Formats: sequence, structure tokens, C-alpha cells
Amino acid sequence: MRVPLMAANWKMHKTVGEALAFVEAFLPRVRGVDGIEIVLAPPFTALDRTGEALAGSGVALAAQDCHAERFGAFTGEISATMLEDLGCTYAIVGHSERRTLCGETDTEVAGKAATLLRHGIRPIVCVGESLTEREEGRAFDRVGEQVDKSLASVPADKASEIVVAYEPIWAIGTGRTASPADAQEMHAFVRECLAKRFGDGAHGVRIQYGGSVKPENVYALMAQPDIDGALVGGASLDPESFAKIVCFAPPEESP
Ligand code: PEP
Repeated sequence: MRVPLMAANWKMHKTVGEALAFVEAFLPRVRGVDGIEIVLAPPFTALDRTGEALAGSGVALAAQDCHAERFGAFTGEISATMLEDLGCTYAIVGHSERRTLCGETDTEVAGKAATLLRHGIRPIVCVGESLTEREEGRAFDRVGEQVDKSLASVPADKASEIVVAYEPIWAIGTGRTASPADAQEMHAFVRECLAKRFGDGAHGVRIQYGGSVKPENVYALMAQPDIDGALVGGASLDPESFAKIVCFAPPEESP
């Protein structure tokens, strides 16, 4: 049984004060939510104070990236040791914005994921094809390659600690979501790739969908058998909107 994992990726949004105001408004809205894991990924600058505000709430703290090395001369970078020190239990790695804007490679993502696992931090490893790759019929090859290479350093006994986020690039921040059927098809494919690497362990790996998830479309996505959660950007910035996503009630029951 895979526990659904609903994660907010705030990207480069929210000062410390704004993050704390979010937590104050958000926690009462998800109090009593059972059987769903909730994660907030604020920017690095707000991790410490957000972590303090979340203490005892059951909502987990995540970073949006991490360096593969444990320490050293890497100006501007943040290590897994530092994230562990702040109480992060998850970290997003390989987000398409970092792959595109910072030229991050699958090999680098694999290094980050391996380092995080050594520090007891669960990596949320992002994969996803571009619009051109989808239109040219290369989406499955691209995603399969990313899964293989980005998880190359994950030992089989750690499989259940990783999360894969399938985020088609053309759906991120565009308002255009993959249909539940298309998303399910890719998630089932990702699980096949995981099974080749981890055997039966693949059944325990949570695969999130990301790309313009909103309160209005989350229920249909979460109804798919291989969609185990959502990684949410824009719609996670508002406490009410993200709380509705976390609860993923059928549209007619949505509060
Ligand atoms: C993301 O950046 O991970 C994301 C899915 O963004 P959005 O929900 O805004 O598409």
C-alpha cells in the first residue's frame, strides 16, 4: 500500500514571513487529514523557520535541490548535511527547471539522489519529456532514459525511500495538464522501468504526477492506479488551494 504523497514546490517564491503566514493558514485546513503524506518545499532561505513552524504537525519539510558533495569549495551550494541539520526529510532533485536552466544532467541527479539517501533524506527525482519529444513520439524513450540514469546509484534496498515525480515539461506552469489516462500510461511505464532495476521493490516506489495540478483536476489524476501523489508548483502557493489538492475530494464534494 503506497501512502499518497502531496508535495508543494514553492520554487523561488515566498519570503520567510510569507512562508510562515502560509503555514499558519494551511495547518488548520489539513488538521485531521489521515493517510496522506504532506510535504512543503520552501526556498532554502525559508527552510529553517518553516521547519520550526511545522514542528509536531506531521507535515514534512523538503529542499528544492541539494549538492552531490558533502562539503567543500562549492560557493552558493547547499549540502545534504546542511539539509539534514534543518530537519529536511525530502529533497527535490532533477527538476526540469534545473535541468533546462542550469544544465543539470542525469549523472548529476544520480549523484545528488545517492548523497541524499546516505543522509536519510528521501529524494524526489523529477523526470519528464519536452513538448517536442512528445510530439515526435520520443516521450517514453526520454523518460525511460532519465529514470535509468537518474536512479543509477540507488541501491535496491533503498528503493522504497525514493520518489519519482513524472512532470511533462509542457504541463509545468502552463495550465495544460496531461489527461489522467496519458499520465497513467506514463506512470505505468515508469513503474516497469523501476521493476527492471529494483524488481518487486518497484511496487513500493511512489510516483507523483506534476504539471498544472489544481483542486479541479487532482481527483481524476489520483484515481489512476499508478499515480501516488502530486508535485505542485503554482497551485501550492495558496494555502486553501493546496489544502484542497492534499485532500483530493471528488469535485462535487470539494469544500
Ligand atoms: C513544478 O514546478 O513542479 C510544477 C509541477 O509546477 P506547476 O504545478 O505550476 O505546473
